[in-house]
Amino acid sequence: MGLMRILVTAGPTREFFDPVRFISNSSSGKMGYAIAAEAARRGHKVDLVSGPVELPAPEGVKVTRVVTAQEMFEAATALFPRCRAAIMTAAVCDYRPASRLDHKLKKNHRARSLRLVPTPDILASLGKTKGDRVLIGFAMEDHDDHRRAEGKLRRKRCDAMVLNGLRNVGGDRATVQVFRPAAGWGRPVSGTKLRIAKLVVDLVERLSRETKRPSTIAGPSRPEAG
Ligand code: C5P
Repeated sequence: MGLMRILVTAGPTREFFDPVRFISNSSSGKMGYAIAAEAARRGHKVDLVSGPVELPAPEGVKVTRVVTAQEMFEAATALFPRCRAAIMTAAVCDYRPASRLDHKLKKNHRARSLRLVPTPDILASLGKTKGDRVLIGFAMEDHDDHRRAEGKLRRKRCDAMVLNGLRNVGGDRATVQVFRPAAGWGRPVSGTKLRIAKLVVDLVERLSRETKRPSTIAGPSRPEAG
């Protein structure tokens, strides 16, 4: 089985509107860290780009810690070209405050509104340059989940989309269902995040074998040295 370099993104991002306040979400990073740990345990080289979480670096995994979506975008974009596959579990904030104040926002008892602007879509951006690399997205939907997840797979040019149950956030267990264009929807699988991690790494290894181009270096084999 071919060992590969795999990029994993995990955790939330934080988007600040003053030096101490931000918008974010309650992603724990557990799914991405479990996947990174499992891939490293199998001998793959793993680059984990992680938002702020309470988890230690998994053994044998190179962790790049970031805070904002823009930082995650830059780190993932720099690492992706040398990777064979990317597994994008991060709960990236889709919006950030349009500006970040230099000083803490003062209270004045009046209502305020916060202008939000979109952050870069990291997965969609990697999809544009993926070539024959394997790209796995995660989708968490509160309605119309299958149709929306399939739409995301196409828009972001993924090889597979893992539909992640809303109740999975923060816990140690998860229920997922995988969509692949060639195979359709698999059956829902429930288990610990370690079990789901094994399933996702199995999937990446299988997709990597399937998409590996046959060697273009044909011709007479070189004589063995000695
Ligand atoms: O947020 P959304 O449902 O579109 O996320 C689907 C997938 O896209 C996830 O794999 C997530 O990590 C990725 N994503 C990303 N950059 C974003 C938003 C989402 O890489 N800005």
